[in-house]
Amino acid sequence: MNKKGELIVISGFSGVGKGTVVKKLIEKYHYSLSVSATTRAPRPGEVDGKDYHFKTVEEFRNLIDYNGFIEWAQYVENYYGTPRKYVEDELAKGNDVILEIEVQGAMHIKEQYPDAVLIFITAPNAKTLQERLEGRGTEEGKVIAKRLKRAYEETDDMPQYDYLVVNDDLDTCVDDVHAVIRAESFKTKKHNDYVNNMKEELFAIRKEILS
Ligand code: ADP
Ligand code: 5GP
Repeated sequence: MNKKGELIVISGFSGVGKGTVVKKLIEKYHYSLSVSATTRAPRPGEVDGKDYHFKTVEEFRNLIDYNGFIEWAQYVENYYGTPRKYVEDELAKGNDVILEIEVQGAMHIKEQYPDAVLIFITAPNAKTLQERLEGRGTEEGKVIAKRLKRAYEETDDMPQYDYLVVNDDLDTCVDDVHAVIRAESFKTKKHNDYVNNMKEELFAIRKEILS
C-alpha cells in the first residue's frame, strides 16, 4: 500500500516530558523531526540547528515576512515557529514528520492540514507536572510560575486534540505515541488511492473472466 507521510503534532504542558518522549521516539522509531526556530536563549547543552534554530527577534520577523513558517506563535515572551521547507520536503518524500509545538501552533496546523494527527502529552497529575518542571532546573521560579499558569490555560485546548497520552512511565508513553501514529496511518480515508486502484484492477479481472 502506498504510504503518505503523516504530519504528527505533539503538544503538552511545559515540563511534562514531551521533549524527552520525542527524543526517545525518534531514536527508537526513526521519525523525521522538525527543528523549530525560536527567539528564546539556548539552555545549557542545547545546540543551534539541532535543538532549535536560535534567532534574534529581527531574524524571526524576517522569516515571518518571507512566509518561512507553516505556523508560529508567541509563548511566554518568546517566539517559536516551524520552518516550512523541511516539513513540506519530508511529507513529499512520504516520511512521517513530528512537530513538537505548543497549542496555538497546533491549532494553526489543524486548519492547514486537516489530516494531521494531534497528540497531547499529559502528566499523571498537576503535582507531578510541577515537580518535573522544577526538577529540570532550567528556569527560575518566576518563569516556572508563568509556565504553570500557561498550562492551566492550555487545558481549554486539550479537547481539540485527537489523542491524550499520559507520560507516567517514559517507555510506555513512547510506545503509546508510536501505536497512535501507526493506527492513524491505517485509517481508510487515508487510502483512497489504494481503494480506487483495487477497484480498477478488479474491474479488469472481472472483464477478463467474463470475456
Ligand atoms: P518538556 O519538553 O515537556 O518541557 P522535558 O522533556 O524537558 O519536558 O522533561 C521535564 C523533566 O521531566 C526532565 O527533567 C525529564 O528528565 C523529566 N521526565 C520526562 N519524562 C519523565 C517520566 N516519564 N518520568 C519522570 N520524569 C520524567
Ligand atoms: P521550550 O522553551 O520549553 O523549549 O518550549 C516552549 C513551548 O514552545 C513548548 O510548548 C514547545 O512545544 C513550544 N514550541 C517549540 N517549538 C515550537 C514551534 O515551532 N511552534 C510553536 N507554536 N511552538 C513551539
